[in-house]
Amino acid sequence: MTITTTIPDALQRLRTTFASGKTRPVEWRLKQLSELERMVREHEPDFAAALQADLHKGSFETALSELGFVASEAQYARRHLRRWARPKRVSTPMMALPGSSHIQPEPKGVVLIIAPWNYPLSMVCAPLVGAIAAGNCAVLKPSEITSQTSAALARIIPRYLDNDAFAVIEGGVAETTELLEHHYDHILYTGNERVARIVMTAAAKHLTPVTLELGGKSPCLVDKSADLDVAASRIAWGKFINAGQTCVAPDHVLVHRSVAAEFTEILASKIRQFYGDDPSQSPDYCRIASERHTARFARLLEGQNIHTGGQVDVAKRYVAPTIVLDPDPASELMQEEIFGPVLPVITVDEMHHAIRFVADRPKPLALYLFTRSKALENAVLDGLSAGSVCINDAVIFMVSPELPFGGIGNSGMGRYTGWFGFETFSHMRPVMKRSFRFDAPMRYPPYNDFKRRIMELVR
Ligand code: NAD
Repeated sequence: MTITTTIPDALQRLRTTFASGKTRPVEWRLKQLSELERMVREHEPDFAAALQADLHKGSFETALSELGFVASEAQYARRHLRRWARPKRVSTPMMALPGSSHIQPEPKGVVLIIAPWNYPLSMVCAPLVGAIAAGNCAVLKPSEITSQTSAALARIIPRYLDNDAFAVIEGGVAETTELLEHHYDHILYTGNERVARIVMTAAAKHLTPVTLELGGKSPCLVDKSADLDVAASRIAWGKFINAGQTCVAPDHVLVHRSVAAEFTEILASKIRQFYGDDPSQSPDYCRIASERHTARFARLLEGQNIHTGGQVDVAKRYVAPTIVLDPDPASELMQEEIFGPVLPVITVDEMHHAIRFVADRPKPLALYLFTRSKALENAVLDGLSAGSVCINDAVIFMVSPELPFGGIGNSGMGRYTGWFGFETFSHMRPVMKRSFRFDAPMRYPPYNDFKRRIMELVR
């Protein structure tokens, strides 16, 4: 087993491997994918312990959103890979006949995956599935903030995946900065907007294509026609899993005035039902990633009208599931991505006011609508842009490998999961093959009107 010493050594090793063609055969890719699946299965206790230490993540959430997410991505890619990797025949225009055309996916090369701390395992390994499926070598950079999971990944991945083709680089800003000085064939970065600009600037020096999986304020619209009980359950679940540290968590709710009070009461009752009277005692309720991140919530909640929760314990990295009523849109809480268990509920007189509210702000990563009104659904779909839209539920769309996952505008660029991960890490190479038979003279100079008319007829 090769032990990585320095970043240049690791990159040299991966470049040599890619150039050797080792990663191209579909059999090799399938083997790596099944090894990844075997890794998450066999090391579930180790990863669960690391996630528990880093985020107090309980076993259910670990199984669902970390290990299960990666295993089902890998399994889905394994099942479809032969078809994805096959050249796809396309038609050939008359002007290029006789001939044939196809699109043949080819791996990009050595790619870099930089992950954040909120889903510290799946944000490394789920994009990795696409990179492997497409036949690439990959450098993996887990987040230093969730240090236990980072260490577990660095220890365990080399025991399963081909060390000639993959390297885990641990560390913080210094190591990521050093990684970014080098050339890659693609960079997939998941994290915040500020660092995304650093990544994109570094990538520009080498003309490296980037996928940026960012965040933002994902709004959740609740209409008076919605089933309030089901809506409250689904919103509370989507907001408070991982203590709100989910990129696609509802950031805030915009609810119709006629049902706002009733909806808020039901929401509060769901929090009690899910996490008990004292959520700090719940084995299912996560902690904030660091004391620094926790202290931020104390600041965000200052002067707010708190309906439920509001307790912050910096030393214990605890923030209670919290509902805030009608915060000032100019307050910090409404200016930046909340990314924690604080849910502002904002009352609107008409749903088109909610649509206006969303339209006036940067395009979100996810947009949620709870309604039985087809007209409202159409108004939202036609009038608003977002990375993903989910109607009458929250976050659950993430379980579908058939849907691409990615943002738009400030919430990111590019996409992955399922086929889209394969596509992201592939170059979709067009190949046209001509026959030597029949070499039509019309395209060759000297040109004349007759040739031009023929060309216009056949093109
Ligand atoms: P983070 O602080 O862990 O940073 C992410 C990575 O960037 C780390 O590996 C870190 O080493 C590196 N990094 C940090 N500062 C850097 C710098 N100055 N230069 C170079 N590299 C640097 O995570 P984060 O950014 O706080 O993550 C939270 C954000 O991620 C939220 O905005 C959330 O919405 C977003 N997110 C998006 C998705 C998605 O799929 N769209 C998923 C999860 C999280």
